[in-house]
Amino acid sequence: MIVCSLSRVAGLGALGLSEPADRVRLVHLRYRFRVYPTVPQRSALARTFGCVRTVFNDAVAARKAAHREGLAYPSTAVLDKLLITEAKRTPERAWLAEVSTVPLQQALRDCHAAWRNFFDSVSGKRAGGRVGPPRFKRRSHTQAARYTRRGFSVKANGRLYVAKVGDLRVAWSRELSADPSSVTIIKTATGKYYASFVVAVDDGADLLEPVADPDTETGIDLGLKAFAVLRGGKTIENPKFFAQMERRLKKAQRALSRKQRGSANRVGARLKVAKIHERIRNRRDDWLHKQVAALVGENQALYVEDLCVQGLSRGRAAKSIQDAALGRFLTLLESKAARAGRTFAKVDRLFPSTRLCSACGALTGPKGLEGLGVRVWECGCGAVHDRDGNAEINIRREGKRLVAAGLADT
Ligand SMILES: [Zn+2]
Repeated sequence: MIVCSLSRVAGLGALGLSEPADRVRLVHLRYRFRVYPTVPQRSALARTFGCVRTVFNDAVAARKAAHREGLAYPSTAVLDKLLITEAKRTPERAWLAEVSTVPLQQALRDCHAAWRNFFDSVSGKRAGGRVGPPRFKRRSHTQAARYTRRGFSVKANGRLYVAKVGDLRVAWSRELSADPSSVTIIKTATGKYYASFVVAVDDGADLLEPVADPDTETGIDLGLKAFAVLRGGKTIENPKFFAQMERRLKKAQRALSRKQRGSANRVGARLKVAKIHERIRNRRDDWLHKQVAALVGENQALYVEDLCVQGLSRGRAAKSIQDAALGRFLTLLESKAARAGRTFAKVDRLFPSTRLCSACGALTGPKGLEGLGVRVWECGCGAVHDRDGNAEINIRREGKRLVAAGLADT
């Protein structure tokens, strides 16, 4: 029932040596299945989740303390020794020895990755919205423990062996496309258990990191002013080169129109226009790929408003770079989300995401062309809304409803 094409993944390492690096690319797909642990397995998992949370929180605290004292950030290797190996010998942390070390070490890696994302976001190295520093994990939230190959295996009888927990019963709803490189056991806030496998497959796509919190999701309100507005008011601005390239293109087009038909000058001018178009496509696609990779990398579910791209340009003769980019963005996002096993839904473009009050559900928001300039509005119910933030909430809500009702395309 589970076909794991081991050879495909195992062969990639060898391939990497003989082929140019850019020819062999891996994409990480995520597969999530419901798991039904027995009562003893549930308590073993509860202990594991508790230890993972403790180690993660100890690591956050250790890094914060180092920062306060002006010391260098302790490396993961140092924290591994301090917070796992040595902590097990202390009376306060002796219980860490009752669970597998594998998810504890993964907790340190996750913490490190969270700091790195935060610093990259601050320094502008990371595309997409701003990322906050890692926060302490709480018991009330979704619980998770991640195991690398050392800590789990899929048995021939279909059970999932997890170190120091046992053989878990899994509801396999589809096939894994290859041998998984890691599994995260998740307990949701509602008490359901899931196994989330990461499978690396060869693909032309960018490498995807698994989402740390599988319940992250965002609506995406696409652009009038900004390129897109995400959950919590995070914004993807239109890059400056959109306007720059548009000016250059217009200038080259004007020059072309002035050239005599059949002249050598006209051939040269046409080539110049074509080159600018090509440059726009390349830079735009490069930028879009980065935005899409960040969005899909950070969110387990993505809900976006389907666009009537022509309607957006509102009478402008030619499609602007932004309008063309929005259409392309939707295509890239949908395919990347599908390949990464993310939940994805497009909300009908006639859905009144802007007009709907996300607090009371009345259609009191700005409407039509007259309403285009309205950034902030107040509903009769007393709620004051940022136009785009309100739309994002409505899109996310409607997307979730479509998925729950089985009406989403994917
Ligand atoms: Zn209202």
